[in-house]
Amino acid sequence: MIDSMKTISIVVPCYNEEATIRLFYETILSLWQEQTLAEDYTPEFVFVDDGSKDETGIIIRALSETDDRVRFTAFSRNFGKEAAIFCGLKQATGDAVIVMDADLQHPPAIIPDMLEKWKQGYEIVEGVKSDRGREKRSYHLFSRLFYSLISRMTGFDMAGSSDYKLLGRRAVDALNQLPERATFFRALSYWIGFKSASVRYKVAERSAGKSKWTGRSLFAYAIENLTSFTYAPLRIIGLVGILILCIGIGLGIDAIISYCRGQSVGGYPSLIILLTLATGGILLSLGIIAIYIAKMYTELKNRPRYIIDEQK
Ligand code: UDP
Ligand code: MG
Repeated sequence: MIDSMKTISIVVPCYNEEATIRLFYETILSLWQEQTLAEDYTPEFVFVDDGSKDETGIIIRALSETDDRVRFTAFSRNFGKEAAIFCGLKQATGDAVIVMDADLQHPPAIIPDMLEKWKQGYEIVEGVKSDRGREKRSYHLFSRLFYSLISRMTGFDMAGSSDYKLLGRRAVDALNQLPERATFFRALSYWIGFKSASVRYKVAERSAGKSKWTGRSLFAYAIENLTSFTYAPLRIIGLVGILILCIGIGLGIDAIISYCRGQSVGGYPSLIILLTLATGGILLSLGIIAIYIAKMYTELKNRPRYIIDEQK
């Protein structure tokens, strides 16, 4: 019986989560007991402290000292959730890995379903939000726009997708081989392929503490991911160019017709319109190209995605 025992790594990125870590750990362990998962699976906790300024690191270290199943990595500073997730994937030794938020917004109750799907042979089990929980209306609209854009560009239906997923060993190894600095975990799990299934869940309220996102940081995150995952903004530049060209040709034809009819051409207004259109278009295009160049520069420098301060 023992040799069929599988290890399931729970990868948890943590940033200032002192109020939730212990509860998270206890909730997972009690789920393991209640759902009799313990008969087939051993949990391994892979906590990554993403440069927290509170007691998060101390709490995780204490847990790892009393429980051998707890692994602990602390970053030298805050490198962001993506870096923490990818570090966790590297550390995880399990036959499958489940990536979860520390604040219990990803309900552990669906873990048995995820494991069941994995047992049926699905390499990736996506947690899909059936409801986005409580959030502002503007966020809701913005996220819908973001996902419809990114879904169209990547060709995967990513509506409701989240970072809550189960990945089999082969999927984890595939992700670990990706060399790029700028990652978007949510989309990369689709990109690597493999047979996948999904489990729907309702986003829970945060158990304690507060969200690290602000409107501004969410917007920056969206731009970051759109540009690291697709070249569509670059293609849009071409389209804008064509549009401006068409307007120019239209105005030109209009001027010729007016000239032939002996009417005077409104030179100044059309000049101003063309000038502002063209300048705006060019500057916007340069801005978009600059984002890609900056990204290339970042990749070229080849700096590590994160720096580890302490590990156990
Ligand atoms: N997180 C992280 N680094 C950061 C920001 C967040 O590791 O720089 C972790 C955080 O501790 C949590 C998860 O990412 O486990 C989701 O963060 P949060 O709850 O703030 O985001 P939301 O649920 O509001 O999208
Ligand atoms: Mg949260």
